[in-house]
Amino acid sequence: MPTQASDDAFAEVKAKVDLVKVVSEHVRLTKRNRELWGLCPFHQEDSPSFKVNPQMQSWYCFGCLRHGDVFTFVELIEKTDKRGALQMLAERAGVELQKLSPEQRERADDRKRLLAMLKLAAQYYEYVLWSSPAGEPGRKLLVQRQVGEETARKFQLGYAPAGRGFAEYLRAKKRSLADAQVAGLMRRDGSDFFAERLVIPIRDERGQTLAFTARTVRQDEQRKYINSPETPAYVKGRVIFALDLAKDEIARRGHAVLMEGQFDVITAHQFGVGNAVASSGTALTEDQVRLVKRFTDELLLVFDADRAGQQAMRKAAVLAAQHGMRTRAATLPEGLDPDEFLRSSGAQATERWQAITEAAPSSFEAGVAQDIAGFNPSNANQMEIVAGRLREWIGQFPESLRDGYAEVVERRTGISRHLLAKAPEKSPVKVVGNGLPARAPGKKTTVGRYLLQLLAVNPAAFERIRTKLAPDELDDEDRVVYVRMLETFDRGGASGLEKELGDYPAEVQDLIRRAWAAPPPNVDGEVAEELVARLRLDRMKGRHSGIIRELSEAERGREQERVARLEAEARELARAINDMERSN
Ligand SMILES: [Zn+2]
Repeated sequence: MPTQASDDAFAEVKAKVDLVKVVSEHVRLTKRNRELWGLCPFHQEDSPSFKVNPQMQSWYCFGCLRHGDVFTFVELIEKTDKRGALQMLAERAGVELQKLSPEQRERADDRKRLLAMLKLAAQYYEYVLWSSPAGEPGRKLLVQRQVGEETARKFQLGYAPAGRGFAEYLRAKKRSLADAQVAGLMRRDGSDFFAERLVIPIRDERGQTLAFTARTVRQDEQRKYINSPETPAYVKGRVIFALDLAKDEIARRGHAVLMEGQFDVITAHQFGVGNAVASSGTALTEDQVRLVKRFTDELLLVFDADRAGQQAMRKAAVLAAQHGMRTRAATLPEGLDPDEFLRSSGAQATERWQAITEAAPSSFEAGVAQDIAGFNPSNANQMEIVAGRLREWIGQFPESLRDGYAEVVERRTGISRHLLAKAPEKSPVKVVGNGLPARAPGKKTTVGRYLLQLLAVNPAAFERIRTKLAPDELDDEDRVVYVRMLETFDRGGASGLEKELGDYPAEVQDLIRRAWAAPPPNVDGEVAEELVARLRLDRMKGRHSGIIRELSEAERGREQERVARLEAEARELARAINDMERSN
């Protein structure tokens, strides 16, 4: 039970944080009338059904029906509980919480101390780079790399001198060396972990330093780059390098440029490619895709031309596609990496980059080009191998894209799209548990269609559902067929359909014959009942969206009473839908 004190804490925090700001860090919101809309972060969708109401400080998703306030939002997005959400938001709002458990308080304090230490280190290294003779090797490296001071300062680049400089600095500031060791900045003997390296802060999208990567300035050093260890503040696969600097430019240009190396990104910003980011020390992860998707739907992938780089490009393309993002793959001439390419382009860098961007094909097509390199269509053997490769490539993408992709390949290679479709699985419809299809399979097989097929194969099931289904719960096309089949059943019983089928319209005959030839996976009466329930659910959802649309109209017109009534209705319906979904 929440205590009085914690209730106060919730109210106090709520008053101090703005839901819109919190949501905007995760969802790109667009203003429509007085509301803000975006793609729901809690379910997959292509068009925005996630609404934030700034006045009410509430949010609502018409797609998955999740809703709530700033606490529920943080709970869901950070996968924490109500306490955790309170704690995070309190930290942000600068509200002291009295009721933290000792462990929670300790964890929060640890993280805070770690972040403060990293910030201090970044400032120290930056100071050394620009204002100390010891920073000379770092400055020289930047000159070689053609990175100017302005760019370097934007990235807060620094230099870690040889020896124990940072330890001495901390001692002078009376700070604990232990924190620096935990942060991975210092060895036990106090020597600097990044000594004699150019230090590059890795920051989150809000510009907070979480870790460092560091490039050696010595010719004889084997390890060119070393990185901070993972800490409570830094989880590798969750950060996108330079997103804090690139996000505005990403929004402006409509796409992000994803590069492999952090230094590539720094050079890119130096040469005017301000929307460049890097996945930072790992192959692109799902968390990173979600993160960057807050800012754009399109990635331009710039990966090495070698085999490993191209494999990474393919993986990134598939992962992005699974999250509804488009990707294109840029190829740089002569196998150059972006850093080399931009530097060698000098004053023409912007222009040449533009040309590369414009010429970049979709990543899918880039993969196809690789797969068919050297392919001779008149060689039957080769044809089979290449078709196999392409089938595999197409099969990695979400189902909704595959038909279109097969068509693209057919046009490009002359290989029939049927050869490119994935070998059919045993059962055309995926079946879960009780025999219901996992979801409405394919484009045409809606729940209503499934029901009609089931009734064609097992007309006796009419007995179980006829009182439960009102024909107008079906859409127009299905309703006509349903009513006719029911009449036939009433006249002729289970065998009536076979006798009367000849009188049915041709396309209905076709539907029924096909159901007989290839029955749906489960035709039990029980399944028929479940389909009916599902139809009802779909209808309720449709009605719910209708109410929501009406609601925003009413809100626009400031019709207070109608708003209240519709809100109550929507809430009621949402509850009923939730109940129904849970019982299924
Ligand atoms: Zn949703």
